[in-house]
Amino acid sequence: MLKIAYSEVYKYHLPEGHRFPMEKYELLPQQLLHEGIVTSDNFFHPDQLTEEEILLTHDPAYLHKLNHLTLSRKEERNIGFPVQKALVERGKYIANGTYQCSLYALQNGVAMNIAGGTHHAYPDKGEGFCVFNDISIATNLLLDRGQVNKVLIVDLDVHQGNGNAFIFQQNPDVFTFSMHGAKNYPLRKEVSNLDIGLEDGTDDKTYLDLLTNTLPRIIEENEPEIIFYQSGVDILETDKLGRLGVSLEGCRQRDHFVFNQAKINDVPIVATMGGGYSHRISDIINAHANTFKEAQYVFF
Ligand SMILES: [Zn+2]
Repeated sequence: MLKIAYSEVYKYHLPEGHRFPMEKYELLPQQLLHEGIVTSDNFFHPDQLTEEEILLTHDPAYLHKLNHLTLSRKEERNIGFPVQKALVERGKYIANGTYQCSLYALQNGVAMNIAGGTHHAYPDKGEGFCVFNDISIATNLLLDRGQVNKVLIVDLDVHQGNGNAFIFQQNPDVFTFSMHGAKNYPLRKEVSNLDIGLEDGTDDKTYLDLLTNTLPRIIEENEPEIIFYQSGVDILETDKLGRLGVSLEGCRQRDHFVFNQAKINDVPIVATMGGGYSHRISDIINAHANTFKEAQYVFF
């Protein structure tokens, strides 16, 4: 069965004036249930991470600032929204959701988080709407506990996975692959094991050709024991921030291809949602819902 991390704490309301589409974390599970893609049995409630678990990835000084709400204005501005207690606590559940998903994926082949993919967080700072780096946290826990020996991070959000690239730069057990808008945020990019920078306006064919020519080779050469897939839908042509020209159908084909590669190569996969900033919330939800549909279709 497709296990999906989700709980009430994922819902969060930003103060007035913040335009980040937080409502997607409430609307997506409703849509999945409404469309019959999943039933309530598919969902599980993650527990919260312990300090010790967070400290495998994040610096004690940064965690202290988050726990005591003592980030500087500049640090908070870099994150992009006010950092309140409930937001910090929520991040600890979501990051553990990604780790617990990885344990389900090792059993079932696939698992998904209705949030996460917070790939811009560094050990000592957050940025770009990311406080904790859930994929790095899950990866470090798996490696530390000997649950896997090799990890592949496939980051197809339109923004480079700079946090993961930085965190695992010196780690030969983790391969980071990021395909992203070359001219998009972050302006100063980190070096992943493989980066593909896309031109503005990249269309379905160019996008999918690049992906289908690259991912199978990465899997073959690295033989990962798990894949973390950051399935951001800000590659859509309708996205306010993305600058690419990928259609909803192209985005669905991307998801299908990634899940199918995991399946045929027998590598467990965890999908985390990542970004999505289309003008219409329905475009965001439809694209994310497709990711869950494809996971069901390919694996079950
Ligand atoms: Zn993004």
